[in-house]
Amino acid sequence: MNSPEGGWVAPPASLDGSWALFLDVDGTLLDIADEPQAVRVPDRLRPDLHALALHLGGAMALVSGRTISELDRIFEPLLLPAAGQHGAEIRLDPLGSIRSGHVDPVLPRLAPEVRALAAVWPNVEVEEKGAAIAVHFRRQPEAEVPLTRALRSLAEGVGGAVELLEGKMVRELRDRRHTKGTAIGIFMASPPFIGRRPIFIGDDVTDRDGFAAAEAAGGIAMSVGVNPALGRAPAFTDAEAVRAWLSSLTKGEAMESTAA
Ligand SMILES: [Mg+2]
Repeated sequence: MNSPEGGWVAPPASLDGSWALFLDVDGTLLDIADEPQAVRVPDRLRPDLHALALHLGGAMALVSGRTISELDRIFEPLLLPAAGQHGAEIRLDPLGSIRSGHVDPVLPRLAPEVRALAAVWPNVEVEEKGAAIAVHFRRQPEAEVPLTRALRSLAEGVGGAVELLEGKMVRELRDRRHTKGTAIGIFMASPPFIGRRPIFIGDDVTDRDGFAAAEAAGGIAMSVGVNPALGRAPAFTDAEAVRAWLSSLTKGEAMESTAA
């Protein structure tokens, strides 16, 4: 049931225990805020995610560019299986420890140069995450073109280990070996995800690897909002529509008809 590239996939009306759910966070579960720290979790979302995680026997994970500790802070007190920093961090068990993938040492060495070039713009923020260096320019959109050019040349200057990710209002240098796709692969090889069909929902170019991994595993990829760079029709208009769908999955019939 792979969806053709560019095709539209209707969100299933219910999910039974044969599915595993992978969710990007910013722009997918949460509305994007002016600053990454300012995102808000709507009241219904925590209980809905908690109910769905139970319903799916724990086979539901957040897959984000944020660090896992940030995801925990945002969704507190809810703890979920999670991949952070685009797959460089993985926590299979919500109560277990975070595994960090090896990061090429060239990446942290780029941080001073990234800070120096970002300092040209007063409202551009640099965030050193460990396995990635993110540069946020939501409050300074005119920085996009020169910033992208400078970061790209920085990445190219250190060979193939580092990749520039061009997300919405953010550019990130990261170790190219870790992606949302490799993260989904790790979850799918572990219980309770193993043997299930993955669904991955994302909204940005940084989610492409996740879409491909879900489809390669016989699952479904669904995108949020119109984003020409993704080359696929959206299954959801916005994050609010994703939340409404998740909420509908926790209600009466959808739950009962899929009870194991
Ligand atoms: Mg996103």
